[in-house]
Amino acid sequence: MRSPGGVIITTDPALPSPVERDTFTCGHCNGIVMVQPKQRPEDIGGMCKQCMKLTCPRCTGSGRCDPFMEKLKRVEARYHARRSYADACR
Ligand SMILES: [Zn+2]
Ligand SMILES: [Zn+2]
Repeated sequence: MRSPGGVIITTDPALPSPVERDTFTCGHCNGIVMVQPKQRPEDIGGMCKQCMKLTCPRCTGSGRCDPFMEKLKRVEARYHARRSYADACR
């Protein structure tokens, strides 16, 4: 399976030419995870059964679904809450 994240080129001093690496984006922390050759995404991290996104080993290890988009929404909600609070104090 071709990973949805795409391919990045890395230069490894041990190798004569830059190497291509498959990558995927963790659906929970939005981190880029590099897939080693012949490694399947399932071997590196996992697939979240709740949001159906590939997740990095760290997020897979946490065992809970915490999508990045939900985190963004929480941050935004906090931001707006602070704003209205500041307005009320004026
Ligand atoms: Zn992650
Ligand atoms: Zn999830």
